[in-house]
Parts: sequence; C-alpha cells; structure tokens
Amino acid sequence: YQAKRAGGHFVLHEARTEPLDPQMLSLTAELRSAIDRDELLLFLQPIVTADTRRLVGAECLVRWQHPRRGLLPPGEFVPRAERSGLIVPLSDWVMREALTIAANLRACGQDLRLSVNVSRRALTEPGFADLMTRYLAERAIPADRLMLELTEQTLMSDEPAGRAVMGQLQAAGVGVAIDDFGTGHSQLAYLKSLPVAQIKIDKSFVSDVTTSSTDFAIVRALVELAHALDIQVVAEGIEQETQAQALAGIGCDLLQGYLIGRPMPVDAFRAWIEQPAQSHSSAG
Ligand code: C2E
Ligand code: MG
Ligand code: MG
Ligand code: MG
Repeated sequence: YQAKRAGGHFVLHEARTEPLDPQMLSLTAELRSAIDRDELLLFLQPIVTADTRRLVGAECLVRWQHPRRGLLPPGEFVPRAERSGLIVPLSDWVMREALTIAANLRACGQDLRLSVNVSRRALTEPGFADLMTRYLAERAIPADRLMLELTEQTLMSDEPAGRAVMGQLQAAGVGVAIDDFGTGHSQLAYLKSLPVAQIKIDKSFVSDVTTSSTDFAIVRALVELAHALDIQVVAEGIEQETQAQALAGIGCDLLQGYLIGRPMPVDAFRAWIEQPAQSHSSAG
C-alpha cells in the first residue's frame, strides 16, 4: 500500500526490475553527483494569455546534460529520483535555480510568474514552505510570482502533512496549480477544500478539443467550474492554432504549448521574448 501511494503500480514494477539493471543503477549514482556538478539545467516554456497572447509566465522544466548520454528529459531521471529520495536535493536545486532565473528576468524588466513542478516527496519534506519563503526573500521576489505545480495524485493524498504545507504556502502567497488536470482519479471535492489557484488542463484533452465534441464539452464544463471557484485555467500542450482558438473561445485564461513556444534554455527564452511578435509583451 505504501508503494502504491508513493506512485502507483509503476513503482512496484520498477522496484522489481531496477536492481537487475546495472545501467539504471549507475544512472541513479550519477544523478547524485550531477546535482552538485552543474549538469542539470532548466528549460523555460512560455505561458501566454489566451485572448491577446501576452507573455505572463513560464514553466521551468528540468533537463540533465549528461556527459555521455546527451540531454536527458525529466522522464528519464525524475521518477528514479523520486524512488531513491534524490528528489529532495534535486527539487531544492530546481527551486533555487528557478528563483535565480526569476530574479535575473526581473532585473531585466520581465515580471513573469514562474511555475515549478514539485513532487509529493519534496512537498512534504519538513520545512518546505519556510524554505520557499526564505528563497523568495533572499532574491526579493514577491511570493505571488511563484506557482507550484502539483499533480492530482499529490493533492489527493490525504496525508495531513501535504495539506498543512499547502495551507502554509497559501498563507505565504505562493500559488498552487494542479498539473495534468483530468488525467488522475478526478475527484472534484479537493477543489473546494484545498487552496488551488490554477488548473492545467492536460494535453490529452487539448489535442482532441477540435475533433471530439465530448472533449470539447468536458473542457468547457471544467472552465466553467474553475471560474465559479475563482480558479484560473491553463491549457497545456497546444500545438495547433485551431486548438488555441477553440480554447480561447471556451474561456481558458492561459495557453502553453509548442504552438506558442517550445521549452528552451534561458538564453533562447530571452531571445524569444525579444522577437517582434513578443515585444509588446515585455514588463507586463
Ligand atoms: P508537465 O509538468 O506536465 O510538463 C509538460 C510537459 O509537456 C513537458 O515535458 C513539455 O516539454 C511538454 N510539452 C509542452 N508543450 C507541449 C506540446 O505542445 N506538445 C507536446 N507533445 N508536449 C508538450 P517534459 O519537459 O519532458 O517534462 C515531463 C514531466 O516531467 C513534466 O510534465 C513534469 O511532470 C516532470 N518534470 C519536469 N521538470 C520537473 C522538475 O523540475 N521537478 C519535478 N518533480 N518534475 C518535473
Ligand atoms: Mg508541469
Ligand atoms: Mg502537465
Ligand atoms: Mg505531465
């Protein structure tokens, strides 16, 4: 049951196979030192308003620049880090790096809200909310410029620790978003009992919104529900202009996806902001 709560059947499967695979074992060992060796980096993916496509934020997505294997996506090492406990130092690195990037962008007049993905294990690490407050204060970043993305699974865990941290984060002014909304065991009760600022509608709904009347109806109902509860709606994984228009038409507040911009290194993100199409958006 513990294993199930920690991450579903996938955990049991990995627990069985991982010790037999030396390559996977060495990857975990390497990740330990990669965190200290500056081999991790954050990519930024723009988030824009649905109506005028004004840049308002970005999601921070971790990558591992592995010395031999090249640039590894988070799917290759984040689940592993979650199981080994390395997710705690990894999340700490991600948070400090994201807030340093935010501070640098602010210094250049870009007042963006940065979204950071947080695993359940990192969220419930003792002192998490205090640490966030300290990191924000050290860089003079207002708390409402940070949005923490949690999955439905993390939110649904009835563990009191998780709820307590969310209450502390809300009191501190940090926003909480529900990531991949609609893919978990959707249980709408937590929308009224937990302090949620944003839901991110999963790309599995977004990709079919123009072709499936069912998906269209679901997304439209979700937007209506969210707005009634004063929750902002982000549509993620937008690849086509027709999707962007349909979602804006339904009333989604924000858009994110390859159509708007790919996840990119910080320098490329800065260059992207300076493009003529984006130039009207600087400094809000
Ligand atoms: P996520 O938080 O749902 O992030 C969105 C994922 O969708 C990203 O994959 C992004 O590159 C991808 N994406 C964005 N727009 C599009 C699109 O238009 N089409 C398609 N097909 N994909 C799109 P990525 O970067 O591989 O990240 C995968 C997952 O890894 C993330 O899903 C998140 O759950 C996790 N992750 C990423 N960074 C971190 C981190 O720093 N900490 C933790 N704990 N998890 C992270
Ligand atoms: Mg996310
Ligand atoms: Mg997502
Ligand atoms: Mg995802």
